[in-house]
Amino acid sequence: MEHATHEEVDVAVVGGGILGTFHAWSAARRGLRTVLLERSARPLGASVRNFGMVIPSGTRADAWRRRASYGALIYRELATLGVLGIRAHGTTYVAGSELELRVFEEFLAGDAGDGLRVESLSAEATRSLAPSLRDGATLGGLRFHDDVQVEPREAVGALLGHLETDLGVSVRRRTAVVRAEVEDARCAVHTAAGGCLRARHVFVCSGADLATLRPDLHADADLRHVKLQMLRLSRGEGGFGFRTMLAFAPTMVRYATFEGCASLPALREAIFDPVFDEHGIHVLCAEAADGSLLLGDSHHYVADEAPFDERSHAEVDGAILAYARTRLDLDDAAITHRWIGHYVEREGGDLLRRTEGDRLHVVTAVGGKGMTMAPALAEESLAAAFD
Ligand SMILES: Cc1cc2nc3c(=O)[nH]c(=O)nc-3n(C[C@H](O)[C@H](O)[C@H](O)COP(=O)(O)OP(=O)(O)OC[C@H]3O[C@@H](n4cnc5c(N)ncnc54)[C@H](O)[C@@H]3O)c2cc1C
Repeated sequence: MEHATHEEVDVAVVGGGILGTFHAWSAARRGLRTVLLERSARPLGASVRNFGMVIPSGTRADAWRRRASYGALIYRELATLGVLGIRAHGTTYVAGSELELRVFEEFLAGDAGDGLRVESLSAEATRSLAPSLRDGATLGGLRFHDDVQVEPREAVGALLGHLETDLGVSVRRRTAVVRAEVEDARCAVHTAAGGCLRARHVFVCSGADLATLRPDLHADADLRHVKLQMLRLSRGEGGFGFRTMLAFAPTMVRYATFEGCASLPALREAIFDPVFDEHGIHVLCAEAADGSLLLGDSHHYVADEAPFDERSHAEVDGAILAYARTRLDLDDAAITHRWIGHYVEREGGDLLRRTEGDRLHVVTAVGGKGMTMAPALAEESLAAAFD
């Protein structure tokens, strides 16, 4: 049994997902004495279950795009330093119909792409980036060059290693925090094993779990829990040969990117599918470093997850795969993994940021864009607390 100590640090971060990890990174880079507490032996939350897409292209031209662009820049820098691997090959939206091509033209003619490097591609050029794309179903592409791909199963672990080895952060795994509270001019952080440390500032980045530390916020009506389904496919040696991440029409109507385009409502109507609508499906794919293909995803808004909801599992997988097969030749590919991820988000898409006593900060509910936004959000948190 661990006992209460008189340990004092500048910053304690609760949660070793991507948001907590970047909070610790930003703190350590300011020369602050930093501790990160993660309840698992290694992070198991949304940050290791996603596509690893760092995508300024998924935003509208506002503060979120600036944050996303900063995020992409930081991942590029970290890759240059050898901290983690990235594939800086952008995202390509693939048009499979004249209407989708028209949306691309409208996007390029307007100012919705401000701040993004975008390139219009012929059908042939699009297929050369992803040889599995079906000939007749590929009329052209729109490539966003700023987007980068990280390997989700490895990125957070690599960053945590960098924090420990290069930046002097104390990363405490298998350390569940059960209480964090403001106490005079400090915060006290209590662990399940009976330990206690004090910090000038605490950042609670506990992802979808607010019930443990902040049941009051957990019950907040504005917050919704989202469950997503993902697939991994393999075709054995050689992989799929993708030199880009791919998105298709269902993502065009889901993300904010194309929302100003005059033909978008017509596209929405043309591709409407009740199964996609019921399960919040859109189709993205990215080839992982090992040559497997990440394919997803769906969005179920769940208060309490039904544990044996097999119908939705099979129906969702089937719908995602059926759509992907209309666009990609996946005949010799087999499903190797299926999994579920969770995150919390707020109605309207804003982050949940609450500060108590000027020093206990809850930062979560970044929703479906946390890999992209974490570097910028962490920098904002640290600047607000220390500058
Ligand atoms: C299927 C899927 C696909 C996605 N694709 C993308 C994408 O391509 N690009 C993108 O930008 N975003 C994507 N996202 C969103 C992104 O993954 C999340 O926004 C992000 O991972 C959230 O990070 P987090 O650190 O807040 O949460 P988490 O990753 O859930 O981390 C929270 C951590 O806190 C720890 N913790 C919780 N409570 C305690 C406690 N009391 N004590 C100690 N530790 C605690 C948990 O163990 C966990 O490790 C996707 C999400 C999913 C599910």
